[in-house]
Amino acid sequence: MLEIKLGYACNSMCIFCIHKDKRQIKDIPINTLKRLIDNCVKEKCEKIIITGGEPMMYPTFFDLIIYAKQKGIKYYEIHTNGRLLSDEVLVNKLIKLKPLGFLVSLHFPNPKLYKKYCLVDGFDETIQGIKNLAKNQFNFTINTVIMKPTLPHLEKLAELVKELKVKNWQFIYINGQNVMNEIKTFLPRYSLAVKIIRKIIKRNPDIQIYIKGIPICIVGEEYKANLAPIYGSDRQNLLDGKELVTSPRIRESQSMYPNCINCVYLTNCVGIRIEYFQLY
Ligand code: SF4
Repeated sequence: MLEIKLGYACNSMCIFCIHKDKRQIKDIPINTLKRLIDNCVKEKCEKIIITGGEPMMYPTFFDLIIYAKQKGIKYYEIHTNGRLLSDEVLVNKLIKLKPLGFLVSLHFPNPKLYKKYCLVDGFDETIQGIKNLAKNQFNFTINTVIMKPTLPHLEKLAELVKELKVKNWQFIYINGQNVMNEIKTFLPRYSLAVKIIRKIIKRNPDIQIYIKGIPICIVGEEYKANLAPIYGSDRQNLLDGKELVTSPRIRESQSMYPNCINCVYLTNCVGIRIEYFQLY
């Protein structure tokens, strides 16, 4: 599996974005991306994740998918804030490239909160984008960052997600490295996060809810089926447009495993984020 970022530019400016300090990095040239796909095909990889920034803003986006399809890549996952999916012309182009899967960011239940934390009026477009995906039977998952600004609104967001008839919803614990200056404003205690998440899981049996970035010893064995699978060394990520790095190597640099030596889950665990350990 290969994860490629087309660049870091975005049409939203979320203040908790993992890439907010990289927006000035130049777009990755299409030939570099094509070479990555060629290598990926040689290594018999079948799936690519296309992300950014906002990947659908890039002129290389459609060219790249067409190229990868010609090369035999079977599975596609596009990580997006969903705003451009409100454009039916763009959606019609995507329909021609099916099957495609989407991970759509939706962190807040109303336009006011969206604007406060993403600094633009993008809420209505994202909602329309989600409706367009559902209407055209695309596979998609909603992605919500678990952080102090989202937790008090998560139950309201659950109502909206239900109204939109979403089938898959992912909660991802915030990567604190992007908010180091204001870490106390953003990083919630796991105990508070898990309490709210468990309530939402219990109340919404019709939605498949996944939890990413919180270890099982904190989430609880009862919710084992809700843990998102962790990526192995077969997932390669192009970092800053330069270096291909495997997912376990990224995890090693971001997580720690205090007192975990005898844990049965050790080899298959996301661990505790370093900044969480330092703060709490
Ligand atoms: S390895 Fe450590 S952090 Fe992971 S589940 Fe086990 S005890 Fe928890």
